[in-house]
Amino acid sequence: MTDILEQRQAASTSAPPATDQPAEDPGPAVQNLETIVSLSKRRGFIFPSSEIYGGINAVWDYGPLGVELKNNVKRAWWRAMVQERDDIVGLDAGILMAPQVWVTSGHVAEFSDPMVECTIDHKRFRVDELPGAEDLGPKELLDPGIVDRLGLKCPIDGGPLTPPRQFNLMLKTYLGPVEEAAAVVYLRPETAQGIYVNFKNVQSTSRKKLPFGIAQIGKAFRNEISPGNFVFRMREFEQMEMQYFVRPDAAARIFDEWLPRRRAWYERYGVTPSRLRFREHRPDELAHYAKKAIDVEYRFPFGWKELEGIHNRGDFDLGNHARASGENLEYFDPATEEHFIPWIVETSAGGDRAPFTFLIDAYREEEVKGETRVSLALHPDLAPYKVAVLPLLKKRPEIVELCHRIKDDLKTEMMAVYDDTASIGKLYRRQDEIGTPWCITIDVDSLSDRAVTIRDRDSMTQERIPVEGVKRAILDRFEAARAR
Ligand code: ATP
Repeated sequence: MTDILEQRQAASTSAPPATDQPAEDPGPAVQNLETIVSLSKRRGFIFPSSEIYGGINAVWDYGPLGVELKNNVKRAWWRAMVQERDDIVGLDAGILMAPQVWVTSGHVAEFSDPMVECTIDHKRFRVDELPGAEDLGPKELLDPGIVDRLGLKCPIDGGPLTPPRQFNLMLKTYLGPVEEAAAVVYLRPETAQGIYVNFKNVQSTSRKKLPFGIAQIGKAFRNEISPGNFVFRMREFEQMEMQYFVRPDAAARIFDEWLPRRRAWYERYGVTPSRLRFREHRPDELAHYAKKAIDVEYRFPFGWKELEGIHNRGDFDLGNHARASGENLEYFDPATEEHFIPWIVETSAGGDRAPFTFLIDAYREEEVKGETRVSLALHPDLAPYKVAVLPLLKKRPEIVELCHRIKDDLKTEMMAVYDDTASIGKLYRRQDEIGTPWCITIDVDSLSDRAVTIRDRDSMTQERIPVEGVKRAILDRFEAARAR
């Protein structure tokens, strides 16, 4: 135990890993966010929630293509974080938790942002998002004189602003039939706490030894003061979080190991490396629980912003939950015969920000034969549809029948669709625009030579392959894409 205590100080203060700020701003993949918003609406990726009633601010619904993309991103994360590893197991905890959890975690007292209000239109803003206040530290953000000192004004109508005050971001509801203070529960603002309170359950049933992790994907809710930038900042969103439990003396090293691993995940699924960077939090910026925090940032059309947070949380979480609940949350290390509270290294990614990033970064516009071709160069694992089967002549029933046979055969393995509602050129463009990596075209010759054309989304090259070999050809292409 003494050893462990002595090592703590050193463990929390490793040298910062090289933060790899690109020498030049690569610029965003898409200049105007509106391009992605309108593509999302037009093609059924993302719709405003409750649109027929005028919408609800900061909530978005995923349409038929969006839900495929989002599920594929979540699956890719699960594959990398759980399936491909022996040291991480999954969990799906409730959104509602005992209210005491949020007192212990510090959220009731601390989970707030400094906010100002315009005295004319009564709109509210996060202070750190006002022009001229972006770089202020936490003390200055709450300084009652800051609005006057910096001459801050309402960014909408230029009206005077109130002094800042803290605004708690947790959403509340009531559990049970009586709406009284004792029945208040919170909608979780992060998925992590469900993992901490299950640490003992998971560790004892899975018999994992340190270091090991627990991964979870699920909804989180925050009453954000300044939501916006489409699905970047919402009030209802998803998180993909992994909490890695470690010996205190290993925390700094393991934190450093997770940084390149998490960045590599975005690159593995196609994000342009120069549009990713690490940014370390300044000491005055660190959250109440964090010993060290580094964000993976992406160059969004609205600037460099957080995509994922990687945190060394020390023993803050298990230590506090053990004290508040009276449960013993120590780990017994059989190798050293020590009892101690594990430290936690957290990787906290966005289940909406990640698909959003893949969508933006995959967007391509190019001139082809005097026309603009729009395509989404999504990794095949992320693409909503993997294959579209298209007839060259829909009037020939034998062609249509062969199309359906091929599509049905593919559907046992992957999302495949049939479409005959336009000319072949238009059908290709449509599939390009939603990121379908391969189109299979069946023409009159297919009936006699039992061969079809496979067209590649990115190169637009076409190849003739036997009907019997279609599924194999697609699966081979998948494997090639995964190996890249
Ligand atoms: P920000 O600084 O952007 O408010 P944060 O530091 O509060 O983010 P965390 O609490 O570290 O974010 O949450 C982890 C991840 O959850 C973020 O990296 C992001 O991907 C996602 N996330 C957080 N808040 C939102 C939100 N309001 N809408 C969508 N995703 C979010």
